[in-house]
Amino acid sequence: MLLVLAMAAALWGVGRLTGAPRSARVYMVGLLFVAVVGLHLILPDGHPLREATGGEAAPWLILGGFVVLWAAYARVLRRVRARVEAQEGAARPAPEPGRFADGELDRYARHIVLRELGGPGQKRLKQARVLVVGAGGLGSPALLYLAAAGVGTIGVIDDDAVDATNLQRQVIHRDDRIGMPKVFSAEAAMTGVNPFVTVRPYHRKLTEDIAGALFEDYDLILDGCDSFDTRQLVNRVAVAQGKPLVSGALSQWEGQVSVFDPAHEGPCYACVFPEKPAAGLAPSCAEAGVLGPLPGVVGSMMAVEAVKVITGAGAALRGEMLIYDALWGETRRIALKRAEACPVCGGDAGRRSR
Ligand SMILES: [Zn+2]
Repeated sequence: MLLVLAMAAALWGVGRLTGAPRSARVYMVGLLFVAVVGLHLILPDGHPLREATGGEAAPWLILGGFVVLWAAYARVLRRVRARVEAQEGAARPAPEPGRFADGELDRYARHIVLRELGGPGQKRLKQARVLVVGAGGLGSPALLYLAAAGVGTIGVIDDDAVDATNLQRQVIHRDDRIGMPKVFSAEAAMTGVNPFVTVRPYHRKLTEDIAGALFEDYDLILDGCDSFDTRQLVNRVAVAQGKPLVSGALSQWEGQVSVFDPAHEGPCYACVFPEKPAAGLAPSCAEAGVLGPLPGVVGSMMAVEAVKVITGAGAALRGEMLIYDALWGETRRIALKRAEACPVCGGDAGRRSR
């Protein structure tokens, strides 16, 4: 019997050395097995060949049975393993929009325990598509918090590059990214905080030609830009598409935030700021300066309003403006009214005739 096993081992070893495929080696050893069992079935008892190969067929048949069982078990094991790997592989790519990936819900645990948000609120955040205009002082905290909070799709448009003078307040950017387009610096920071969000960077100026098509892709717009003309453009397109606009602005020690959503209630931006301020009356941050942490406060408030608009929690600042005076530590809230005949939203007159 040992002789036959040695022959089988030799067949396997020689096959392996000569590079014969595994199936050919299995076939050769199987042939040897069939030959030995055949000898026992054909030859009479006591035949020298039978004596030399174990004397009877039974031990060979038992051995063959074990080998078949082991092979079947190994095959099942391989199939199960392949199926598990296939499932894991399928889970690895980004899940379809609005669906949570494995392990993603854990990071929103502190949201989910909030009565006003809960699982349904978190799901709305995941499904939300928010566009942020400007990746500067206000955009920095707003973008970071939107990403951290799990807003599923975040677009950011800005044509500027990171400059050393930005870093005193634009906390989404870093010293080693000076010279990099701000939208790509912001994208790196946001996906670094939350790899489960989709960030869409647009490295260009927001212009009349592209604004309509761009805004179509989003449900909510945040405006943290530093140009009155761009603010008016953002407002016109948001009003035309009936999309809420979370607007923040800064000057030196003071910041303000409001939600313009005339499709639901309250005025639009142009109702409140119809005219471009005279040159020198509204100096830019570069001209007048701005306290570093102030955009952190106001940009974070913009992210708060965005979460409220998306989830319906509490009351967003529609028709109201929150003003924060950092120098004296004061806040006040003022009511905003629709203009009598706003050229953008139709104002009060437009609403009455509707
Ligand atoms: Zn208006």
